Amino acid sequence: MEGACVPGAVLRGFGNSVGAGRKWAGGLAHAYWAANVPPPFLGFLTSSTTLPEVPPPSRPPAATPCGRPRPLPAPPPSSPPPPPVVAPACNPGRGGFVARSRERGVVPGARPGYDRWSPASRSGQPESLSQLVPVPERSPQPSSAVRLAAAAPGAPPPPMAAEIQPKPLTRKPILLQRVEGSQEVVNMAVIVPKEEGVISVSEDRTVRVWLKRDSGQYWPSIYHMMPSPCSCMSFNPETRRLSIGLDNGTISEFILSEDYNKMTPVKNYQAHQSRVTMILFVLELEWVLSTGQDKQFAWHCSESGQRLGGYRTSAVASGLQFDVETRHVFIGDQSGQVTILKLEQDNCTLVTTFRGHTGGVTALCWDPVQRVLFSGSSDHSVIMWDIGGRKGTAIELQGHNDKVQALSYAQHTRQLISCGGDGGIVVWNMDVERQETPEWLDSDSCQKCDQPFFWNFKQMWDSKKIGLRQHHCRKCGKAVCGKCSSKRSSIPLMGFEFEVRVCDSCHEAITDEERAPTATFHDSKHNIVHVHFDATRGWLLTSGTDKVIKLWDMTPVVS
Ligand SMILES: [Zn+2]
Ligand SMILES: [Zn+2]
Repeated sequence: MEGACVPGAVLRGFGNSVGAGRKWAGGLAHAYWAANVPPPFLGFLTSSTTLPEVPPPSRPPAATPCGRPRPLPAPPPSSPPPPPVVAPACNPGRGGFVARSRERGVVPGARPGYDRWSPASRSGQPESLSQLVPVPERSPQPSSAVRLAAAAPGAPPPPMAAEIQPKPLTRKPILLQRVEGSQEVVNMAVIVPKEEGVISVSEDRTVRVWLKRDSGQYWPSIYHMMPSPCSCMSFNPETRRLSIGLDNGTISEFILSEDYNKMTPVKNYQAHQSRVTMILFVLELEWVLSTGQDKQFAWHCSESGQRLGGYRTSAVASGLQFDVETRHVFIGDQSGQVTILKLEQDNCTLVTTFRGHTGGVTALCWDPVQRVLFSGSSDHSVIMWDIGGRKGTAIELQGHNDKVQALSYAQHTRQLISCGGDGGIVVWNMDVERQETPEWLDSDSCQKCDQPFFWNFKQMWDSKKIGLRQHHCRKCGKAVCGKCSSKRSSIPLMGFEFEVRVCDSCHEAITDEERAPTATFHDSKHNIVHVHFDATRGWLLTSGTDKVIKLWDMTPVVS
């Protein structure tokens, strides 16, 4: 049955789901299981002894790569979109890997103080200050909703003039190339494996294949205008199949010629009723997975072009990953939730949901070897959901001062690359064993000096003392007053690369070794919307709101 969805082994978490009450700087990511549910609820998702074997890329392309000369004819006019498929009896908002809110006493206008930090006060300095993302001093945080809205526009990029020059003194990404010419933002682009080439799709409706010329510059070998702005793409290097998602809901499929000078239209899928937000082509199954602004997740057979099934997500999806071995799909949406579905040929089952972000999920990255899912969010954080570890660990990584926009994982070196709307590129060492942040404790008085908090009228009256604001130590989770938590420290082993509030006794206990950074920070000097990492050469592509694509040699920092 098309669009069928059966509630599966739904896991019930306890505790509140994280809502507006959570502080941005407060760690979070506690996932809980009810006692009557066996922990390895994602056992089918975990790899027990053997790693997944990916079938060899044996299948030939569906269409012959005998291209027509440019310019390509426009694809045939779209047929009317299919009716929306609403998955029956399936509530994605239930069950799951729930991060618990740890804030109490949230009174409008009387929220506990937020921490300030700046990289200058960071201990354990990275190699060079120039590597740091410039961090403005934070003013006390408004509510998370306001904060998200405020974060959206992003700061204007700094001037680019002094960028292209060798920097042998510090270990940082080396800018190899700027690829320019798009009239609007390039929503997605990929590095062509084994070629000095880039494929880009843009809001200006163009699909371009850029090849490096003798002059050293990248110049389009293909320039094709689509009928609608191009929102996303998926490129399969083995078959050179390019699937392009459009603003009008259509997915258009092309085959690129071997020399990347021509592209041949194959077929169109009327996949969504509005803008396609993500596409994944799965060669092994001949599936095209997609999400749209119509809040639909859909999958099509790439052989027949037929729609196989759909699922209605709770919000517009902006992250999509797939585990080929177990056929689980991960969908991150703007409500901050990650939905996990098990796909069959023509139906799907809701497995569970992960909730831990206070902002929308902006990017997902699945590592099929370690069985770890990373989610990046507009709440500035990345959460690592350790599915393979079978313990329900969810580690929060705080290293951005703006929304996280894109993620990529370098499997061979176990490094996560996260990119922010402020241009920050953070390279995380994932070989480091990090701990979950502690539960924030509830108390009506400071757990260090016993002074009452401001809502504790009885103790205030009895002791004739004025109530204090409540803060939480990020290391031990105790509820403390401002006086007992006057110091700040980074706690990299808990994912806090920036300085956060700690109580005085924890501050004394943290050693300098524990403060050593576990990530490096770099500035791409443009507000990143999308990245692609080519692991074979260690190249990173960043696409920015400045309509420029930059190619970076990451080998100085990813190795
Ligand atoms: Zn105190
Ligand atoms: Zn403490």
